[in-house]
This record gives sequence, C-alpha cells and structure tokens, in this order.
Amino acid sequence: MLDILRRIVQEVNLANDLEQALDVIVRRVKSVMNVDVASVFLKNDDEYVLMATDGLNQDAIGKVRMKEGVGLVSLVGQRAEALNLADASENPRFMRFPEASEEKFHGFLGVPIIHHRNVLGVLVVQSSAIQKFSQDDETFLITVAAQLAGAIVHAEASGGISGLKQETKAKKRGEKEHQSRPIHGLPGAPGVAMGTAIVMYPPADINAIPDRQVEDIEKEIQRFDQAVESVVEDIKALSARLKDVLPEEDRALFDVYLLMLNSQAISGITRDRIREGNWAAGALRQTIQEHEKVFHEMEDSYLRERADDVRDLGRRILKYLQQENRDKIDFPDNTVLVGEDISASMLAEVPAEKLAGVISVRGSRTSHVAILARAMGIAAVMGATDLPVNRIDGLQVVADGYSGRIFVAPSEKIIDEFRRLIDEEAALSDELMELRDLPAQTEDGIEISLLVNSGLLSDITPSLQSGAEGIGLYRTEFPFMERTRFPSEEEQRGIYRQVMESFHPRPVTLRTLDVGGDKALPYFPIEEDNPFLGWRGIRITLDHPEIFLVQVRAMISASEGLDNLKILLPMISDITELNDALGLIHQVYGELLEEGKQVVMPEVGVMIEVPSAVYQAGNLSRRVDFLSIGTNDLTQYLLAVDRNNARVASLYDSLHPAVIRAILQVVESARVHNKPVSVCGEMAGDPVAALLLLAMGIDSLSMSVSSLPRVKWVIRNVTRERARQILSEVLLIEDAAGIRQYLANTFEKAGMGGLVRAGN
Ligand code: PEP
Ligand code: MG
Repeated sequence: MLDILRRIVQEVNLANDLEQALDVIVRRVKSVMNVDVASVFLKNDDEYVLMATDGLNQDAIGKVRMKEGVGLVSLVGQRAEALNLADASENPRFMRFPEASEEKFHGFLGVPIIHHRNVLGVLVVQSSAIQKFSQDDETFLITVAAQLAGAIVHAEASGGISGLKQETKAKKRGEKEHQSRPIHGLPGAPGVAMGTAIVMYPPADINAIPDRQVEDIEKEIQRFDQAVESVVEDIKALSARLKDVLPEEDRALFDVYLLMLNSQAISGITRDRIREGNWAAGALRQTIQEHEKVFHEMEDSYLRERADDVRDLGRRILKYLQQENRDKIDFPDNTVLVGEDISASMLAEVPAEKLAGVISVRGSRTSHVAILARAMGIAAVMGATDLPVNRIDGLQVVADGYSGRIFVAPSEKIIDEFRRLIDEEAALSDELMELRDLPAQTEDGIEISLLVNSGLLSDITPSLQSGAEGIGLYRTEFPFMERTRFPSEEEQRGIYRQVMESFHPRPVTLRTLDVGGDKALPYFPIEEDNPFLGWRGIRITLDHPEIFLVQVRAMISASEGLDNLKILLPMISDITELNDALGLIHQVYGELLEEGKQVVMPEVGVMIEVPSAVYQAGNLSRRVDFLSIGTNDLTQYLLAVDRNNARVASLYDSLHPAVIRAILQVVESARVHNKPVSVCGEMAGDPVAALLLLAMGIDSLSMSVSSLPRVKWVIRNVTRERARQILSEVLLIEDAAGIRQYLANTFEKAGMGGLVRAGN
C-alpha cells in the first residue's frame, strides 16, 4: 500500500500543471481502489467545482458546481471529515447533476483535501453497487488526500505561473490583463523587492534546475553534446578501471549507460527541447523527469529501480554543464535571488549592488540567511513552500518582506502599487537616516543603547555609519564558516582586532563559537537526529577546550590597548558550564599577563536563550557582568517550535505571552544583582517588540543594522510611561496573534504603521 501511495505522490509531483496532476490522481485512485468513479472537486471562493473525473462524463468538468451548503461534496468540505454512504441519492443533501451522468452510481465516499487547515477540495469515489465503502477504503482515501494536498497546491501554483507566462505574452499583444494572485511565504526581512527572479540551485541537484531561455541554440546544443561526451569518457574509464574487480556481466551495466546516453530517448529528446529554446540544463531536467516518471510507473521493481540510473546519468551530465556555466550568471539590476534553500554563500555570489531581495522555499525569519538579508538591508521572504521554483527564472517578481507575499509576473496594477510603496519606503529611509546622530532617547528622557549585530567584516562600515553605539553581538561563527579548517589564533586575532579598532572606543561584544544546530562547519560535520537539542554552542567548545582557549586568547590579545572587548557565552543551560567557561577565560587572561601583555580582563556575559537559563538568571547574574537575551533560540525552545521549519513557522512568534513573561523574569532576576540586560535576538529589531522591551527596562537592544533606524524612531516618539501602559495592556492578551494585532493597531493610530508594513 505504501509503495502505491509513494508512486502516486511521485507522479503527481512530476505533473506539469494542475490539470495533469488531478488527472493522475483520479486515474490512479480509480484503478487502485477498483471503484467505478473517482473525481476531484476543488473549492473556488464559495463553490466546489468538478475539476477532474474518471468515470463521470468528461463534459461535466468545470460545469458541475456546488455552492457551500448545497450537495454532498460541500458537506464533506464543511465538516472537514469523510462521508461514507451506501446510497448517496437517499441523503437529503444529495443533488442531481444530469450533465455528469451519475444516476447509475450509489455508493459514495468523499474525503476532504486539506492543506495547512484550509479545505482545498474534496476527493470522491463512487460505486454502482448500493453499499458502504470499507474502513480500509476510507483510511486509504484519507491518506491519499492528506499526501496530495501539498502537491495540489504546488501544481496549482505552477499551472498558474505557466498560465501567467502565456498571459504575459498575451498582454504584450494587447490582450486582456490578468489579476495576479500572491503566493504566501513568511516575512523574512523587512522591505519590498521588485526585480528579476534568478534561481540558484545547489550543484548537481537536477530537480532544482529552472527553465531558462537561450538565444544561441546551436551553441547550447554543442555544450550539451560536449557534456555528454565527457560523461561517456568517464564511464568508459570507470569500466576499464573496474575490469579486474567486477565480472563481465556486472560491467555490462556500463554498456547500458553508454547506450542510454547516446539514445534518442535521452540525448535526442534533450536536443529537441533545446531547439525549442530552453537551455541545456533545463531541457535535461525535463527529459530526466519524464523518464523517471515512466520507470516509476512500472510494476516490476527491478525496472523501477532503473529510474535511479537515469537520475544518476542526468546528474553526471549536469555536473559538466555546470562546471562550464557556474561563473557565468549575468545578474541583472534588481536581482531577486530565488531557490529551494538559499544559503549564505549563494547570497555572496551576487554583487551587492545588484541584489534586491531573496526568496527561499525553506527556512524562516530566524534562519541565518534571513538574518544576513536584514544585515544587508534587503527584503526576504522565507518558507515559500508553494513556490514552483523551477518555472520562474527570469520572470519579474515582487517580494514583500513584511507580509511574506510573492507576486510572480505581476499585473501592471500590482507593479504600480508596489512601485509606490517602494518610493514611500525610500522616503521613509531617508527620513530615518536623519536620526543617525541623535540619541535613542524617549520623549521623557530615558536612554536605551542601540547596538548592532554583526559577523561579517563587510558589515562593519554600514554598522559604523548607522550611528550604532557598539556591537552587541558579533557572531564569530561566520569567519569560521568561510574557511576549510579552523582559523588559527593569529587569523582570528586579526579579524577581532579589526572589528574592535573600527568601533573603538565603543564596546564590541564577541560571542564565542556557536556552531551546531543549523550552523555547520564544512570541516567539522556533526550528524545528529535532533541538532538543536544536541551538541551546540558552549557544549562543543567546552568539550574541545583547545578550540575555546585559542579563540579566547585571540579575543583578549586583540583587545590590547583598546579595552573595549566584552565576551559573550552562547547556549549556557547549566551553572557548571558557566563556571567551567569562566575558569578557562581566567586561565587565558592569567597566561597573557604572564607573557607581559598589557591586557585588561574583559567583561563576560552569558546568553539567556534556553528555558533553564531563564529560571537560573539570578544565579547566572551573580557570576557575570551582563546578560544578553537571545530571543531567537529562547522562542524556539520555550514554544518547542523549530526556528527554521516553515511548516510550524506560524507558531513561532517572540511576542508569545510565554516569551514576554520569560523576559520579564530575567530582567527582575538581573536587577536583584544590579546587572544590565540586553536583547540581541531578532526581537530587538522588531519595532513593536522594541517598545515592549523598553517598557520592561531592558538596558540595550542589539539588532541588524537595517532595523536600527526604525527602532530609534519608535523610541524617540514615545514616553516610557506610554510604553509601560502598552505593556500592561499586552500582558492581558493571551495569544501572540492578539498581541501583534493590538500593537499593529496602536502603531497605526500613532501614525507609525509604516514601520511594520510596506509603505509609509
Ligand atoms: C539568538 O538565539 O537569539 C541569537 C541571537 O543567536 P543566534 O541567532 O545566532 O542563534
Ligand atoms: Mg542563539
């Protein structure tokens, strides 16, 4: 059963558009369940429309429509549960549609198709016999519908976009304009980007390859032929090398590969596709996917496995195509980088002046790519799971980083609307820049330090120009990630010195290495089932004091003569970890003094980012000079919501009452010991949250450089008294969405809505 299900889902995922996907579903379900009819109804506004059927009259497709509240199909949707009837016509909700020719069918089983709590439609099977379907039939159909919901959404979006491409052409011919519908992702970094989608994909991932138009078709065919030729050479060489190891019959597989490579089925068809205008990699993807589909449909498991061989060949050809192609992407002005999983290094490939925004299918607001996007001041939409990535390369896109909406090939009306918002944004930014040299002081004279988060040397200049009072969090893992081995003490010292010198005499808070979780070092792989609950941050560096001691030596010796260093310890969950880390820091300090270095003992702080640290904030405060609340991880651990998982991202909100109360508790505990508290998670850069943090008595906020002007504006336009009133209202609200809504309304009323949405 599982095998059948897997094959149906695979086939649906390979469909080119919604129509094809639904067609596969009804055909497969009808034959696997051995029923007389299988149909799919999709919900369109307030009615259910027959979109595909195997068994009913094909002419009825698109014509049979049921308003909500009428008919059995809409009853399934309304209740969001299965309906299993021996004779549908006996039911009072039954409606007859003569055009469907369904009078001879009696047994009816309908199950809802639900995606992210939304009923998308209903999957129905019918039989001519008067009998209820079995429990097994019911559970099978529910399982199929649950698995297919995501694929249907995806196919719908792809179909929509293929349609849009045609419509764009039609528009050029002066035909009627379409109405753009947005695809929903998650807000990643504030701002609005409008530009050309450039799809980036990891090397040799065939499914991630986008379609792309080429001009010089003959040259493209030549490139493809050369790549195939290189693979032929490789396989021949491999076969020769294995001559003494593998018996003749096993090596025969290589001959099959060679035949396949040169066949019309792979090379010939790919060449035809290139002739139609697609580039070699995109044409190859289409061919390989088509073959995979055919193999997957085969009953024989041996033949089905051959799909893997086709994929392997595809990957080999692709590798050669990419080798030649990698450096040649010509990034247009206003590039919007799009990909399944955009990484920090992909971001770095685009010249900064050309990059307008980022859209990633995976990840969320607190993924490190989103953090980088904020540091660079560009809009980002994350978790765009319904975006058909390989169909949008080269199209115009709009990414709204405030709301998470994406418009592909938008209509003129939408373009005009966003152009206006972008202009307003720019004007607002200019206005905000004027605050640069003014203090972050409330109307009643309370000052709060605004600091920046950094981790890249390229950040330093914008950070300095932003008017920040120092660096509140320097993520040292970025210099570690860019290398192929651990950086030496001298290399680290050089980097830290540069940062401290640039900001001197303002403070620079260097955090000790915080890898693990979602931050991997290529040369120090960690394989774990639950990386966020595993070997992370201080846990790794205490287990490897040789790494920790070198880093702390580099930090303290770099501060010689500057004395503006603060050291921050990540992921402390237990007092003994802090004691051990402090012991090592003192050891390094003592050694440096013995060596005659003129260093002073830096202030040491601890990050509060694990629930256990919240409850021990008093004991921790006693031992250190300051606390810094890492709300990104604290939210993740308090709410048990993975910060990178788009599926649960709607549950991830640092304005959750539990997070707010945890922060209040930390502030109170630190106050007993007279220790300052800062917030360095993304929450600090969210204007509405910053207002609450001000009210709580947080001493400093550290954020991405691009968030700083907005937060400063909020602080300068409010009194602490008013902030406290707002906080007391917020404490009465019981859920994050309610709190966010209340704060958004409060901002609108105060004329500050432009800080939290597009426009001014
Ligand atoms: C945090 O967890 O809030 C934090 C600032 O650290 P990072 O995002 O690097 O985990
Ligand atoms: Mg953290």
